[in-house]
Amino acid sequence: MEKHHKFSIGYILLAVWGVLILQNMLTSALSIQTIPYSEFIRLLKQNKITEIAISANQIQGKKLMDDGKTELFRTVRVDPDLSNMLEQYHVTFKGEVESTLLRDLLSWFMPILIFFGIWYVIFRKMQGAQAGFMMLGKNKAKIYMENELDVRFDDVAGVDEAKAELVEIVEFLKQPERYTRIGGKMPKGILLVGPPGSGKTLLAKAVAGESKVPFFSMSGSEFVEMFVGLGAARVRDLFVQAKEKAPCIIFIDELDALGKARGFGAMGGHDEREQTLNQLLVEMDGFDSRVGVILMAATNRPEILDPALLRPGRFDRQVLVDRPDKKGREDILRVHLKKTPVEPDVDVEKIAAMTSGMVGADLENLINEATLLAARKDKETVGMAEFTEAVERIIAGLEKKNRLINPDEKKIVAYHELGHALVAMALPGTDPVQKITIIPRGIAALGYTMQVPTEDRFLMRQSELLNKIATLLGGRAAESIIFEEISTGAHNDLARATDIARSMVREYGMSPKMGQVYFAKGQRSPFLGVAPEGPNEYSEATAQLIDDEIRAIIAAQYEKATELLRQRKPVLDKAAQLLLEKETIEGEELEALIQSAS
Ligand code: ADP
Ligand code: MG
Ligand code: ZN
Repeated sequence: MEKHHKFSIGYILLAVWGVLILQNMLTSALSIQTIPYSEFIRLLKQNKITEIAISANQIQGKKLMDDGKTELFRTVRVDPDLSNMLEQYHVTFKGEVESTLLRDLLSWFMPILIFFGIWYVIFRKMQGAQAGFMMLGKNKAKIYMENELDVRFDDVAGVDEAKAELVEIVEFLKQPERYTRIGGKMPKGILLVGPPGSGKTLLAKAVAGESKVPFFSMSGSEFVEMFVGLGAARVRDLFVQAKEKAPCIIFIDELDALGKARGFGAMGGHDEREQTLNQLLVEMDGFDSRVGVILMAATNRPEILDPALLRPGRFDRQVLVDRPDKKGREDILRVHLKKTPVEPDVDVEKIAAMTSGMVGADLENLINEATLLAARKDKETVGMAEFTEAVERIIAGLEKKNRLINPDEKKIVAYHELGHALVAMALPGTDPVQKITIIPRGIAALGYTMQVPTEDRFLMRQSELLNKIATLLGGRAAESIIFEEISTGAHNDLARATDIARSMVREYGMSPKMGQVYFAKGQRSPFLGVAPEGPNEYSEATAQLIDDEIRAIIAAQYEKATELLRQRKPVLDKAAQLLLEKETIEGEELEALIQSAS
């Protein structure tokens, strides 16, 4: 554009010059004879001037020639008095035509200048718009240069296996030559898979931070554009940019937004997302990890990804970033507690034990919550009480002490919760009861029995599952023993108990009548794409049998819970009294009550 622009200025000058020449030629062709003013006066006195036209500083007219013809002439006016004087002294005098070159030039030049000025402005605007339109295809990938990313592996805790897998990548990015020289090949694509908040994004940043390479990060949804074709253009541009900056990392967060299995969209056919996905696949095939570009992506829904993305040569390495175990939670808490002033009574291990199932983001939130609670109490430091409260808040919703429940309801809730607690305490292998409360929390739970697992579990024995069901049904059993009537308070318990029973029958082969057969329907395998919900793969008769078996399991456990509570009715009554009084009792208090009763 710049070159072309210089050319046009040359053309303009040429044109102006040409016009001036033309003007000159025209005037000389018309050639009016310019005579001195004195000559004019003389001719006037000889009566040889036939007619004249006087303008501001010039006189034009016709003069009589000796042969009788007239001829055009022109002269420049001179001050009349001065001319009289000059005549007296016989001086030949004439006026000088003032140079009109500048004026002519300006009068020619100004319109041209204005015209070209306007044209130039419009052109620039159009060019800008055009460029802007073309820029749409350019991606908005943020380039985190090495000094901007100060995330290190030390900042990511509790996911040691994932970290161990990524250390190799960091080594490669630091010295690609060391690997490529001996023909080593890096995986092209690494897919971080795990539940939301488990630290996938954080890990990807840590890889970039550790290896000190540029980090191109884009979210999958950013590729999916309004205009058809732009998403694909973005992918192309991202890879071009990345290759220039190699070694580097391309990170596509929330890959599922872009990489959903094709042909399952509501619109069907070739929509924009599909084109973008195709372009991504093309780019992935077209580059070699030896150039030093490592593609990383994260998703919490690997099962909906297009199978083509997971084929060898694409995202062929999957790194599981799982929920942290107890030790992992402890480590994460320690990482985030570095900035928090805590009191000596804070037992990080105990907090970790209370937060089973939470991920890194939850734990970060927990610390924040505890800090806020401490601040509300005008404390400078955060104590164990705040942490316990924060855990309760997060687990069971916000405490609503001022919510009114009538005394009758309160009594039902107290017996219900104690039903859970006493059944749990009577059965082996159940999680210890930490505390029982009838302070309503959140919207759903009127009361709450907090059971804290002593360790994380990966396998459950059949007896444990049955005991869990019995514990869940203990609430309703207690209600029916005491009030000889049941309430709606157990619906969540029933749902959970039924879930467990259903899994036992259909998935775990734990029903003798069904045998060791897997009956779950519409299952999806995580890495093979989506299997749409299909009809049951078993007969109606089997379906009936499954239902019967589920019902039988539930009935047996309900019977067991009722029996246990009947035997413990004195303790149940005493404990209920205490709970109604105090609203919250600790597990140990209940334990002591049971001991003293027996
Ligand atoms: P994801 O991408 O898996 O959804 P993020 O990486 O965005 O989760 O995590 C959100 C925040 O939670 C992080 O910024 C970090 O502060 C915290 N966090 C999550 N996992 C961890 C972890 N394993 N170690 C330390 N902090 C974590
Ligand atoms: Mg993320
Ligand atoms: Zn309950």
